[in-house]
Amino acid sequence: MTSTAPTADVHRNWASNLEYRAARVVAPTSTEELIDAVRSASRAKVLGSRHCFNTIADTDGVHILSGTLPATVEIDSARRVVRASGGLRYGGLAPVLDREGWALANLASLPHISLAGAVATGTHGSGDAVGSLASAVAGLELVTADGELQTLRRGDADFDGAVVSLGALGVVTAVELDIVPTFEVAQTVYERLPLDEVLADLDAVTGLGYSVSMFHTWRDPGIVDQLWVKRRADAAGDAPDDVLGAAPATAKRHPLPDVSAESCTDQLGRPGPWYARLPHFKLEFTPSNGDELQSEYLVPRPNAVAAIQQIRALAPRVAPLLQVCELRTVARDGLWLSPAYDTDVVGIHFTWKPDQPEVEALLPVIEAALEPYGARPHWGKLFVLDGAADRMPRLYPRWSDFAALRDRLDPRGVFRNDFLERLGF
Ligand SMILES: Cc1cc2nc3c(=O)[nH]c(=O)nc-3n(C[C@H](O)[C@H](O)[C@H](O)COP(=O)(O)OP(=O)(O)OC[C@H]3O[C@@H](n4cnc5c(N)ncnc54)[C@H](O)[C@@H]3O)c2cc1C
Repeated sequence: MTSTAPTADVHRNWASNLEYRAARVVAPTSTEELIDAVRSASRAKVLGSRHCFNTIADTDGVHILSGTLPATVEIDSARRVVRASGGLRYGGLAPVLDREGWALANLASLPHISLAGAVATGTHGSGDAVGSLASAVAGLELVTADGELQTLRRGDADFDGAVVSLGALGVVTAVELDIVPTFEVAQTVYERLPLDEVLADLDAVTGLGYSVSMFHTWRDPGIVDQLWVKRRADAAGDAPDDVLGAAPATAKRHPLPDVSAESCTDQLGRPGPWYARLPHFKLEFTPSNGDELQSEYLVPRPNAVAAIQQIRALAPRVAPLLQVCELRTVARDGLWLSPAYDTDVVGIHFTWKPDQPEVEALLPVIEAALEPYGARPHWGKLFVLDGAADRMPRLYPRWSDFAALRDRLDPRGVFRNDFLERLGF
């Protein structure tokens, strides 16, 4: 294998709402070149597939591309793990695993993102019983600021702090991910569900499949526009004929209204490989709309209905700026900076129209409404950084332990940037 994440236009993020400030870009092709780049840098950040919407990956120093390092995939069937390069995209890894009879338990809505970049930000898909992509990490190999190569495995003292790293601890050259025997999934889309009835028993709806997503435009606040149910083909029973009176769509749907479904993975209840159903979008197309911004807040499951009601109350302000809102579930993990740390969560995601000033004006209103419910923002999407250094330690019990780990692994502050400083690191 030779190709990892694409390296085109490394000066802007995927959404193009951000021009990176890096003074220099280096494209290492070996671990030795990478180590040299880290050792000689006073400030550096790794750039994965550039899919973050905020400044988490930005630097005024050196940008180190992960996508030019050699791509490797090694399956260890006995330990049920795959070791793969950090710059590889999920879309590059998945078919290799599938050919050998293996799968990952879950994927995000898109396969375009790099393994290490996704894991560093707590990226997730959906599923009551399935954790975030970071929760599948069994080990990682890290080049720290002093140029040393460290391996951390699940169970090691620093491991739980080092997985969702916000890119603050070093360069992840390889990750070991848990694998499971390959499986097939069929997805069915239901349209126009009554929100009150959904919220009356949210667990029943999110439990309809292995992975379930609900989409709202909030144009009609009483309606869930679409419900995507992804069921394992080996699960008992069939997809229901209707959900709370809502019938399955008779043609393929895109989550965004009036957008062609060509870029979406196959639906209509047709079984297919896990990696061609769990993401909403196909690798060979631009995911989502492409002209958008995103935010997401993850709330503990017991608070989910109240938090959704808060967003519903804000619908008149949210809807005009919104393309679509997506609700997903993520199972708890023990990773210190994971938004699912120590609690099952419901993710309330917003795909915004690309009007950043207006979105940034609305986010404090949304965050104030969700604050009583313990909402943790997605690290890779837009959220309010003002005051975050005060708020985050209340949301993350291991915050100061992470700060200490960062100080130990990066005493020179090589991987520090404005984003991390505003978080207090
Ligand atoms: C269209 C679209 C759909 C999305 N869908 C989802 C979704 O379904 N679920 C979800 O949770 N999120 C989703 N996201 C958000 C996305 O998954 C995250 O932003 C993720 O971090 C992207 O990975 P990346 O490689 O592009 O990260 P980058 O933006 O390149 O980097 C993110 C952070 O990781 C660090 N990093 C990257 N590579 C390394 C490395 N090798 N070693 C150390 N640090 C590294 C960077 O320095 C930076 O701090 C979506 C984003 C887009 C644009």
